[in-house]
Amino acid sequence: MGFRPKTVRELLDWSYANLAAYQVALAQDPPAYNKVCWMTRSRMYRGLHSGDMRRQSLYKNEREKLTHKDRCAYCGVTDVPLTLDHLFAKSRHGTDSGDNLVYCCQKCNSSKGNKDYFQWIQAIGRPVSIPVAERYLKNAYAHCFQANILDLPLDAAPSDLPFDLRSIPLTWDIPAETSTKPKTR
Ligand SMILES: [Zn+2]
Repeated sequence: MGFRPKTVRELLDWSYANLAAYQVALAQDPPAYNKVCWMTRSRMYRGLHSGDMRRQSLYKNEREKLTHKDRCAYCGVTDVPLTLDHLFAKSRHGTDSGDNLVYCCQKCNSSKGNKDYFQWIQAIGRPVSIPVAERYLKNAYAHCFQANILDLPLDAAPSDLPFDLRSIPLTWDIPAETSTKPKTR
């Protein structure tokens, strides 16, 4: 794990490639990182970086959102009324586009407030939601592509982005209880 991204593009590609490896790790029984995970990561990273591979569109994530309309995107609770949340907060210029909206419970909505998703989830010590992390990374990439800042060194990236570059996890730890099922409360 010696790789340290130097540009916005490297950071977003590396995080996304590690998220792919994480999903392979979670599919093991019991969940664990192994050689296949690292192969997945390097193939994904090289592919994204060279332009031979592209991030999947949000189609899959949007379809998931519609089929799980009764579930909080952040904590997985299903038996409570849900609200629409701006993944990238509106006060940080997150858009009203469907790509930036998720269903979540009142409790998560008010706890997250206008915080960055990763900042918030790390602060409350809950495992990341993979669909939310995917959506976040895809939206962040699209934003940086549009703003033409992908190839800026990280310390030269604007500080007023709708998301927090410094809170984006580079690697993803398997939760201690190794359960990937949504939590209920
Ligand atoms: Zn919730």
